[in-house]
Amino acid sequence: MDCRHVRDQLVWYIVGEMAEAEGEPIEQHLAECSACREACENLRSTLGRQADEAAESRVRPQFREALRAEIRSEIALARRGRRRLRQLRWAVSAAAVLTVMLGLGLLMRHHGAGKASRPGGYAELPEIWRHEGISSSHTTTLDAPAVHDDSVYGLEAVGDGRRVVAVNAKTGRCRWRSRAGVWGYLAADASRVYAVGSGPKSQRDLLALDAGTGKVVWSYVPEGAAVHGATSTPLLLGKRLCWCRGSGVFLIDGETGSRIWERSFPEGSALSRPVGQADRIWVVAGKTLHALDVADGHVVRSKALCERTTRFSRPLLAVSGTNCYVAVRSSPGRTRLLCYSPDRDDLVWDTTVDRVAHLQAFGDIVITRSDRLQAWDGASGRLLWAYAAEGCGPVCPIGGNLCFVDAEGSGALVMLETRTGRLVNRYAGKRSCAGLVVGEQIGYLNAQDGVLYAVRMEKA
Ligand SMILES: [Zn+2]
Repeated sequence: MDCRHVRDQLVWYIVGEMAEAEGEPIEQHLAECSACREACENLRSTLGRQADEAAESRVRPQFREALRAEIRSEIALARRGRRRLRQLRWAVSAAAVLTVMLGLGLLMRHHGAGKASRPGGYAELPEIWRHEGISSSHTTTLDAPAVHDDSVYGLEAVGDGRRVVAVNAKTGRCRWRSRAGVWGYLAADASRVYAVGSGPKSQRDLLALDAGTGKVVWSYVPEGAAVHGATSTPLLLGKRLCWCRGSGVFLIDGETGSRIWERSFPEGSALSRPVGQADRIWVVAGKTLHALDVADGHVVRSKALCERTTRFSRPLLAVSGTNCYVAVRSSPGRTRLLCYSPDRDDLVWDTTVDRVAHLQAFGDIVITRSDRLQAWDGASGRLLWAYAAEGCGPVCPIGGNLCFVDAEGSGALVMLETRTGRLVNRYAGKRSCAGLVVGEQIGYLNAQDGVLYAVRMEKA
């Protein structure tokens, strides 16, 4: 490898987005050539300075997210040899590269002292084991891991698709990999792992895999026009599953995969995820909240929430205590957050908030996630606290705390006290859109570096 070739590749070498096979000759050359070594150090510090400036100007997160995904796929293609990195470099302007590198946290990690320096001196992630080769979406929770007893299930990237991998939750040792290709949305109980994936008729069937072997036990193929549209993680209700796809809600026997009942809402009404409570399933269809009887799927109660919503935007639903909380997009960029009391059959409060990516409720505290985390008093709708945090994953309750990933900079796993929003801990260096999933004292984080991390999470 000559000097010219090395200088050509330096920027990618520095940001670490280079396949090992390509990086190794450069490393060798740098060890021997002082001129290139100096050029490398100069470029490293220039990029670092520019990154700091860019960090101050703050790029809009949505733009950054889109760009980041695009560059990631470009890099993936280049790595698979379908495109040359040289071509890629011309396809992307220097400014865009900087933005993305900043977004990926690459510069934060690579500039400065050279070796990984953790910003702010935050604690190291209390890692127990790691499993590499994990598929990680940058915008959704579809590849969040599922945990049951001593198994954790994740999605491995294979070719253009994914498969389920079963891992010993304590040791990280692989138990099996599914032959069936899956899309995502994992759920697990003692005998089965459920996922949305390629069945006999479509790419979006509900599959049940044997928890011991990974073999497909059954696949459920929803029928009718109602099924076009978004889907969600199946909700486990004892031996039954509630699954939404398009504008249809299906209750399925977990043992056999046969349909128990189906409820369809007018075509085009986006459904929230279903929430089970005693003998009811709550679901928002378009702008109406419904309670379905678990036994037969009949609508036992309906409540219109608002006059209008933005079409196709998915409503969010959380149920806790005696209240239902709903977030519906009311206009571009704005969301209406409402509290409905089934006992009083009335809307207790509503407020308008920034566009919300996640709505969750823990006890009497409601959490919304936009470009910040906000906690609302469930009874009154009063804002309790707010915490600025970039990113898209849900929060995970651990004892009296909430854990979530802040995608700012190089990313961090943040722990806050649920009631006060007080910062309990912050572990630097991980980004994820799937959020943390917790088993027994161990948290599982499907991070954007393609690694499933098991981390020690002491309950407060
Ligand atoms: Zn050289």
